[in-house]
Amino acid sequence: MRTPYRLGKTLSFISFILFPVTLNFFSPYVSIDGALQGVITGSLLLFFLLYLSGIFLGRAWCSHLCPWSAPSDFLMTINNRRVDRKRLRIIRYAIFAIWITVLVLSFVFVGGIRSVNLLHLTEKGISTDQPVKFITYYMVVLLLFITTVLVGRRGACHALCWMSPFLVFGMKTGELLHLPRLRVVSNPETCVSCKACTRSCPMSIDVQSELHKGYIGSSDCILCNRCVDVCPSHVLHVRMSKGISDNPTGSTKRYL
Ligand code: SF4
Ligand code: SF4
Repeated sequence: MRTPYRLGKTLSFISFILFPVTLNFFSPYVSIDGALQGVITGSLLLFFLLYLSGIFLGRAWCSHLCPWSAPSDFLMTINNRRVDRKRLRIIRYAIFAIWITVLVLSFVFVGGIRSVNLLHLTEKGISTDQPVKFITYYMVVLLLFITTVLVGRRGACHALCWMSPFLVFGMKTGELLHLPRLRVVSNPETCVSCKACTRSCPMSIDVQSELHKGYIGSSDCILCNRCVDVCPSHVLHVRMSKGISDNPTGSTKRYL
């Protein structure tokens, strides 16, 4: 196991342990409760930071810092089925669209932004500071658990995650501006087509098919490094790259 993958596992485990403390900073409910009072909450600030991080770091957040990353990896030991990413994406973006619409209308309804309170509903900086709030925490964990176990590999990430669209929008913004970002790049000439990368991908990406263009272009790639680690031919690497715009000549070698 190479260092980046091990580091990601360690950080995501720590993030999961801290989830009862940080829950409100990821909460779509807290952001709407704040919006109904004209308050910019800590969760809204985090979502904006996720958007910015997506521009340069892609979805590295998802594998390294998201509180649900470590449990997702563990639950692959229960259900390791590859998922239908396109169908689940429709569900995820439908949920996201409804939530964003309610959020914006809430601010409009109260006449716009009145204040900023990063600790909204988060007394003393701790999300679950009262026993009753643990009910919310356990409900969230149970929802993510059931979805992941029933759907398959990182099922909750594909079907439910309300944060990943911010990262993806950041990635699209960076692409529009032709900015480099962290990507899995490849040297297809050395691939021996063993498909170990595809089998290992926790996001159900057909890595072996995608690598022929010189990089993994899927917005579902969370830069977990697994495909990099399992490849026997060292075809894959994680690098800062502009992707296809790096390569006007069609040569794939320029990505490395
Ligand atoms: S393509 Fe590679 S780095 Fe990206 S999610 Fe799949 S295994 Fe991880
Ligand atoms: S693991 Fe490496 S050699 Fe095997 S298919 Fe993937 S990129 Fe090619």
